[in-house]
Order: sequence, then C-alpha cells, then structure tokens
Amino acid sequence: MTDQELLERAGEAKENAYAPYSKFQVGAALLTAGGDVFTGCNVENSSYGAAICAERAAVVQAVSSGCREFEAIAIASNGEDTVYPCGICRQVLHEFNPEIRIICQSPEGFETYLLSELMPKGF
Ligand SMILES: [Zn+2]
Repeated sequence: MTDQELLERAGEAKENAYAPYSKFQVGAALLTAGGDVFTGCNVENSSYGAAICAERAAVVQAVSSGCREFEAIAIASNGEDTVYPCGICRQVLHEFNPEIRIICQSPEGFETYLLSELMPKGF
C-alpha cells in the first residue's frame, strides 16, 4: 500500500468523525506489519476531556483485534493546514513503534516523518 493510498483511507475514515464542537474532522489509517489497515476518527464529547483522537481510535481498534506491530499511520482532516498528531497520540504510537512513519495531509498533498523526528524522547 502506498502512502497516498493510506492517506485516502484516512480521508474516508474522516467522514465518520463525530466533531460537533470543534467541527475539526480527523481520520487516521494505521498500517500493520502484516499489511492490514485499521482506521479511526475523532470522537468528541460534551465533556471535552472525554474526546479521543482519530489516531488513538485507530490504535485501539488494531490492538483490540490482536495487532500490535505498526509500520505507518496516515492522518487526514477537513482543515486547510498540515495535520500533525497531538502529543498524547505521539506517545501512544511511541509505545508500539518509536520509528513508525507518519503521513500527514498537507496543502501540497502530504508530508512524511518518522515518529522519532516528531517526538525524539518518548516516555
Ligand atoms: Zn491526538
């Protein structure tokens, strides 16, 4: 699966976002070492702190299905700026692969990073 294809899966997942408060819809597509893709979207809540990001939703779905080896994650949003994972999601991804590739939707298409670039010293 190409980075572009994974980003398209993230874009599809974004359509399921529940974001009535921020209106910021995000989708994520997580590629496992075995070639499976798990997706997630952000799910907000009237108790704001109870919200979960798309990236963590995808990780939770994958781990719940027995997958823990991740190669890449793509992130798409309905915003105009490049979308990067938040600090909590970076830490959650670090737990499973400190070198996971992160594909971020950008105005030009996408930008690709290693998690170790975005968060060099995870917990
Ligand atoms: Zn997050």
